[in-house]
Amino acid sequence: MQAKQGASISMRLSELQTGQRAYIIKVNGSGAFRKRILEMGFIRGQEVKSVLNAPLKDPIKYGIMEYEVSLRRSEAVMVEISMLENDASKNGSFMEELLPSNENPVNGNGTDHIRHFHGDSTHHPEKTIKVAMVGNPNSGKTSIFNLASGAHERVGNYSGVTVNSKEGTLKHNGYLFTLVDLPGTYSLSAYTPEELFVRKQILEEQPDVIINVVSASALERNLYLTTELIDLKVPMVIALNMYDELEHSGRTFDYETFSSLINTPIVPTVGKRGEGIPQLLEEVIDIYKKEKENEYVQIQYGRVLEKSIAIMEREMQNSAIAQWRMPLRYVCIKLLEGDKEVEKRVRKLPDHEQIFARRDKERAYIEKLLREDSESAFTNARYGFIAGGLKETLTEKTQFPDKTKLIDTIVSHKYLGFPLFFLFLWIMFEATFRLGSYPMEWIEWSVEKLGNFVRGAMADGPLKDLIVDGIIGGVGGVIVFLPNIVILYLFIAFMEDSGYMARAAFIMDKVMHRIGLHGKSFIPLIMGFGCNVPAIMATRTIESRSSRMITMFIVPFMSCSARLPVYILFVSAFFPSYASFALLGLYAFGILIAAITAAMFRKTLFKEDETPFVMELPPYRMPTLKSVFIHMWDRSRQYLQKMGGPILIASIIIWFLGYFPHNEGREADFDRQAAQIVSQHHSNEINAEERDEILSGIEYSRNMEHQENSYIGKIGKLIEPVMRPLGFDWKISVSLLSGMAAKEIVISTMGVLYTGDSENQQSLQERLKAEKYSDGSPVFTPLVIIGFLLFVLIYFPCIATVVALKEEAHSWKWALFSVFYSTGLAWLVAFAVFQIGNLFV
Ligand code: GDP
Ligand code: MG
Repeated sequence: MQAKQGASISMRLSELQTGQRAYIIKVNGSGAFRKRILEMGFIRGQEVKSVLNAPLKDPIKYGIMEYEVSLRRSEAVMVEISMLENDASKNGSFMEELLPSNENPVNGNGTDHIRHFHGDSTHHPEKTIKVAMVGNPNSGKTSIFNLASGAHERVGNYSGVTVNSKEGTLKHNGYLFTLVDLPGTYSLSAYTPEELFVRKQILEEQPDVIINVVSASALERNLYLTTELIDLKVPMVIALNMYDELEHSGRTFDYETFSSLINTPIVPTVGKRGEGIPQLLEEVIDIYKKEKENEYVQIQYGRVLEKSIAIMEREMQNSAIAQWRMPLRYVCIKLLEGDKEVEKRVRKLPDHEQIFARRDKERAYIEKLLREDSESAFTNARYGFIAGGLKETLTEKTQFPDKTKLIDTIVSHKYLGFPLFFLFLWIMFEATFRLGSYPMEWIEWSVEKLGNFVRGAMADGPLKDLIVDGIIGGVGGVIVFLPNIVILYLFIAFMEDSGYMARAAFIMDKVMHRIGLHGKSFIPLIMGFGCNVPAIMATRTIESRSSRMITMFIVPFMSCSARLPVYILFVSAFFPSYASFALLGLYAFGILIAAITAAMFRKTLFKEDETPFVMELPPYRMPTLKSVFIHMWDRSRQYLQKMGGPILIASIIIWFLGYFPHNEGREADFDRQAAQIVSQHHSNEINAEERDEILSGIEYSRNMEHQENSYIGKIGKLIEPVMRPLGFDWKISVSLLSGMAAKEIVISTMGVLYTGDSENQQSLQERLKAEKYSDGSPVFTPLVIIGFLLFVLIYFPCIATVVALKEEAHSWKWALFSVFYSTGLAWLVAFAVFQIGNLFV
């Protein structure tokens, strides 16, 4: 700050010692980082406190505006601070400009009537109200949505877990509500996909009423988004959520007065218990009914900015903007702020050159007069507006909840942080497999009993074979792993809902940074252990496209729960005493491959800069049993649905390919041979023991010959030369081939292929162990099994994942690239294991 040289020394935020407080002077830098950090409250004069370092000293947790946020050291350098409040004073003259009559921050003449973008809306007779829920991440939108609509929606305590909008309906007082739960955003600028999405939803889908969910425990920051919504002039009701936390903190908020200041109804709610929701709906109906008469306040941006806005409005009043679905004033503000999306639209206007020339002139004027760029000027003005309103209505701020502080000093501790994190992961996996094995045995038992029952009850023929071997054998082999999945998701749900997931990102950032990624990438990656599809969708929270693309590519190397059945089957059959170790090793290997891939892609395909690490660390909240249960139930249901449909179809197709062509002639030959042996026994030429031995030999040859000649055998034989160097026989090759549909199908295929003696009801594990080549050597040697498991880990993510990748990357090219990359890599790894391993054993 050259302007203030002398008395003060300006420092950088990164230099602030843990526990110290300072005041913000300004934020340097540009683009997404700067915008985000401004919006999150890093504005001139704001007090900031350095709370805690991550175990690896980076990033750092700061407290600002009653909430906590983590920044990387390299980013904290961009923030200029002063230890003296005066230096950073909120630019006295500017503030006065903002709030002309300090008593009433909202200018009286600022109200104007709604502009009808809807045209002549004729929706009233239907009595259907379209409601969109908008709010900051972790403000409790999903909780309110779930309780109001009874729909099952993901509740995640990590910013932006809700990446897709979800709809639900409910009836209240004769009205039908359609609710949309939109992703959490801090503002409506055009920097993240979420922000753009929410803006588009509001402007294009035109909800009748917006419920702005505001967290009472971080009011100031949450209201920032509210100011943007006010600019958009949309019918709105505010849900003052987390009201219990506010009351608990001993503060009081005169929300009624605040409500009249912004002329928007405010209803206190407690989202997780459903308190206040009926009142909220009443207000929505009220607003809906008087939509046409609604008066909207106008946020006053102060003399300088208002003048520029007025000039821009005059400049543009005759252009085609009147037909757009946004208020002219809003367009002008966004243009002055330099919003890319609005600029793009304006560029299409015939008189855009003139408009941009005027805009640039106004921006220069703002910068000269206010001594700050216009982007910060608007952000400051919005926060100024909020501060003015809260000054009158909110009593003293108190400390951040102690519970959170205490937990954070432990889980983010220099030495304890990582061990605790990995201990947690270890417990999660032990519980998944150890505890899961009991219900697993019960299910296995029932499936076997069912198979035997059907086998006994039905007449011989293809239908019986289809039902017993194709359907019960195929799907039964997958359903057995449901308990594992349920337990795994129980842990993931707890981690997300409690707020620990964000801490994981916090302590992992430095490590992720090494491979060119962001701590935020860690969450999608962790979710990948559950299922790659939601994980790929969760990458939407990552602002930078390059980081997002890399994360999407490496998610498939996070071993999803569909691969788990394959591991468990083989590990418990062949390495029972090292089960936990082997499983952990597989997961670790996947992580290693992911890390190498990420680092490599960052250096070659995506060299662009990384995202800023600005992440909110929400206070710890004990998740409700209900939300954890809903989460768990949703995932399990999805897993079952996934099995029921595609997997059943795939099982039947594979059974079909394995069953046909059915050579009746050869079958008859074998029957004759068997009959002959039986009659030899009757005439006492051979004894019973010899008979049984020869009979089972015949049965075995019959199955082998049949399988080799079946369609699937032919496909397997076709690709066998490629798989041979990995030590895989044609049955393994075929199983892997069919696993492309979904990885759990690898098992159901094996269940069909390794039937061996079909009268013999051994478990698949026994059958695999007994499997031999014609020369008597076992098929599954340790090297083959290791190579096979690694192949399953690495190769072709399932069809659903590829589709998700395509959708999120908006390109088939990248999806196919991922397919070839992963399959090629899997082949190389299995090849290396088998060939190099064979040199030593
Ligand atoms: P979203 O990100 O806005 O969808 O927020 P969520 O609905 O996922 O809620 C985040 C966390 O806050 C969850 O752990 C909820 O259980 C919790 N929560 C939601 N509403 C309230 C509330 O009114 N009071 C308290 N104390 N916690 C709440
Ligand atoms: Mg949500």
